[in-house]
Amino acid sequence: MFTWLKDKLFSTTPPEFNPAWESTLDQNLAVWHTLQERERSKLRQRIADFLDTKSFEGCNGLEVTQDMKLVIAAMACMLVVNSSAKAFPLCDTILVYPDKFTKTIKVPGPGGTIQEQQIIASGESWSALYGSASGGPVILSWRDVEAAAHGLTNGRNVVHHEFAHQLDALDGAMDGAPNLPDRTTAQEWRQVFTREYSHLRRDLAHRVPTFIHPYGATSPAEFFAVATEHYFANPAEFQARHPDLFTQLHAFYNPSETQSGSTS
Ligand SMILES: [Zn+2]
Repeated sequence: MFTWLKDKLFSTTPPEFNPAWESTLDQNLAVWHTLQERERSKLRQRIADFLDTKSFEGCNGLEVTQDMKLVIAAMACMLVVNSSAKAFPLCDTILVYPDKFTKTIKVPGPGGTIQEQQIIASGESWSALYGSASGGPVILSWRDVEAAAHGLTNGRNVVHHEFAHQLDALDGAMDGAPNLPDRTTAQEWRQVFTREYSHLRRDLAHRVPTFIHPYGATSPAEFFAVATEHYFANPAEFQARHPDLFTQLHAFYNPSETQSGSTS
C-alpha cells in the first residue's frame, strides 16, 4: 500500500490513455469522430489525466462504469483541451445520478426573506472557495449526459454546462466572468456579456424567440454556462447569430491560438 502511494505521489510518468478507450468514445460520443486528429490527440492525454485525478461516485444505486467515466471525462476535457493549466482544480469528485435529481435552492421570499425551494435538476456544480483544501463536486444525471453524448438534446449539454461553472469559479466567484488573461480582455468580456445577457432578457420579456436557451437569462453565471453549451454544440450557427459573444468564447477556449495570432 505504502509503495503504491509513494509511486503515485512521486511518479513523473503521465497517466496513459488506454487504446481500448478509443472505440468506447467512438461508439458513445457522437462528436468524437468529427474532431480533428490533432484535437483528439490532445484530448486523449487530458482524459487520462482527468480519470487519474478525479473520483466518481454513483448515487441512488447507480454503478458508474468505465465507459460512463470516459464519456464524462471526454466532454469535460473539451473545455480545456487548448489550455495548459491544470484541469478543473476545484473539482475532485463527480457524483452521478441515474436520472434527474432534486436539489434545494434559495429564492427571494416576501418581505425580503429567503426561502428554500426544491427543484428537479440534471446537473449541479459546487464551488469551494479557491485555495480550499477540498474542491466542490460536480453532480450529473447520467440520463442527461448520455442524451447529450448522443447529440439528442438540441444543443444542451449538462457536462459542458457544469464544468463551465467550474471554470467560472476559478477566480473565487461564480459570476459569469472567468479568469481572463488581462484587463483589456476582461473589459471586452464584460461589455459583450452584459449587452448580450440584457438582450436575451429583453427578447424573452417580449416573447421573441431566442437562439440562446432561456435558462441563460437566469443569471450572468448561467448565461456563461449556457453560452458555452451553444459554443460547443453548434459553433457555426452560434457565430452567425452572436458573433461578438462567439469571439469572446472562442478566445477563451482557444488561448494558445489567440496568443499565437493564428486563426486556423
Ligand atoms: Zn448552471
